[in-house]
Amino acid sequence: MVLLLTNYEFDEKNGIIKDKATGERCFIVYKNGMEAIFKGLSRIFDSRIDILLRESSLASSKNIAESVRKKGKNNVKLLLSAYTERFAQNGFGRLEISEFDSDKAIVRIRVWNNLFAEMRQGESTYCRYLEGMFSGLYEDFFHASPVVKEVKCIGKRDTYCEFLLAPNFFR
Ligand SMILES: [Zn+2]
Repeated sequence: MVLLLTNYEFDEKNGIIKDKATGERCFIVYKNGMEAIFKGLSRIFDSRIDILLRESSLASSKNIAESVRKKGKNNVKLLLSAYTERFAQNGFGRLEISEFDSDKAIVRIRVWNNLFAEMRQGESTYCRYLEGMFSGLYEDFFHASPVVKEVKCIGKRDTYCEFLLAPNFFR
C-alpha cells in the first residue's frame, strides 16, 4: 500500500487537489456517495442512465488519455501502461489489457476489483460507466467509436469484468 498519490498536487491548507499533468482540479468521491448519485440519476433518467453514464465517462477517459499524453507517452505500450496506472490511482480497480490487436482494432480489457461492479442497483451494476471510459480510450487510438460488450461481469459472479471492443461496422 502506498499513501502517496504521485499524479496529484495537494494544497492541504486551501483544500485544493489538482492533476499535475493537466492542472485540472479534482476531488475525492466515496463509493457510497457515488452510488447514491447513480441511484438518484437512475430514478430520474430510468434506462437512459446508460447513455448518461457512457457520455460522462467518455469525457473523463479522454481526459485521462490527454493527461497521459502530456507526459510525452505517445508509444502505444507506454500509453496503455500509463492509462492502467492512472486507472488504478483513481481507485477504479486493476486493468489488464488481455488483447490488443492494432490491425483488427480489437481490444479486450479485464477489470479486477471493479469499483463500478461493487455499486449495485438491484441486480445490475454500473459497469456501463467503464464501457464509456474504454470507448474513449479506443477512440483515442483508432479514431473511430467501437462496439463495446461486457462479456464477463463480477456482478454475474465472474472473477473479473471483461470488455470486448471491436470496430463498429454498422456506422
Ligand atoms: Zn461488470
